[in-house]
Amino acid sequence: QTGANDLQTKADRLVQMSICASLARKFPKVTIIGEEELSTDEVTEELIENGHCEEILKKTCPAQYTGIKEEELVIWVDPLDGTKEYTEGLLDHVTVLIGIAYGGKAIAGVINQPYYNYEAGPGAVLGRTIWGVLGIGAFGFQLTEAPAGKHIVVTTRSHSSTLVNDCISALNPDSVIRVGGAGNKIIQLIEGKASAYVFASPGCKKWDTCAPEAILHAVGGKITDIHGNSFQYNKEVKHMNSAGVLAALRNYDYYASRIPNTVKQSLVP
Ligand code: AMP
Ligand code: MG
Ligand code: MG
Repeated sequence: QTGANDLQTKADRLVQMSICASLARKFPKVTIIGEEELSTDEVTEELIENGHCEEILKKTCPAQYTGIKEEELVIWVDPLDGTKEYTEGLLDHVTVLIGIAYGGKAIAGVINQPYYNYEAGPGAVLGRTIWGVLGIGAFGFQLTEAPAGKHIVVTTRSHSSTLVNDCISALNPDSVIRVGGAGNKIIQLIEGKASAYVFASPGCKKWDTCAPEAILHAVGGKITDIHGNSFQYNKEVKHMNSAGVLAALRNYDYYASRIPNTVKQSLVP
């Protein structure tokens, strides 16, 4: 545990070891930035993943990406997003996030939801993987828009503050959904459960937003900080998204135009 607001479990460490060591072995020149501070030098062989996904390899690589060199990519890894909820047994809030950035932009991402369907009973397939690439689209789920004319805001469950709540109140939403995880909140947007993700606080990091951003943008949505600034994902960038998160699948401009100036002034990028 690194702090009450910032838990780290054995699962976080093992998953990161597995993902980062496996990627580093296959793509030694790629920059990989994981949430947990861990060395992958003494990784055990059983944690190395050698497989690949046929479905992805069947797609045509968009022309603008065919010339990319391995060393130009940065991969942002959140081995377990929604750790707080995980420790409380809210297992479907948990996701594993792998985002790929090129030229500072999130261009591809994977959101794995290991406990998807965990309460669905026998016969249901446990877990799913949602993935997307700019210029190809996003897969592994049914793209659904939120009910028209309703403003349903999704936000943090465990990292609220007066500012977070004041910002949501200013949007006068029809309802507010409080769930854990940045990955999980983007799933709420692309599956039509919520119309906007609003988090007027520092706390979210680049590994929380990279994969979700690529998937949301691949289906025509938009994610920025609370000021409307896009996130940068080059390897030198500051990890913290100090000025919060604002995202929507549709009608992003509506929500952006209603963020109070007082809230913006409280959040320095
Ligand atoms: P949440 O919406 O609270 O699940 O947060 C989304 C992501 O940002 C998770 O990875 C959280 O751990 C992280 N996060 C958000 N706020 C904070 C905070 N105040 N302190 C530490 N981590 C935070
Ligand atoms: Mg996280
Ligand atoms: Mg995490």
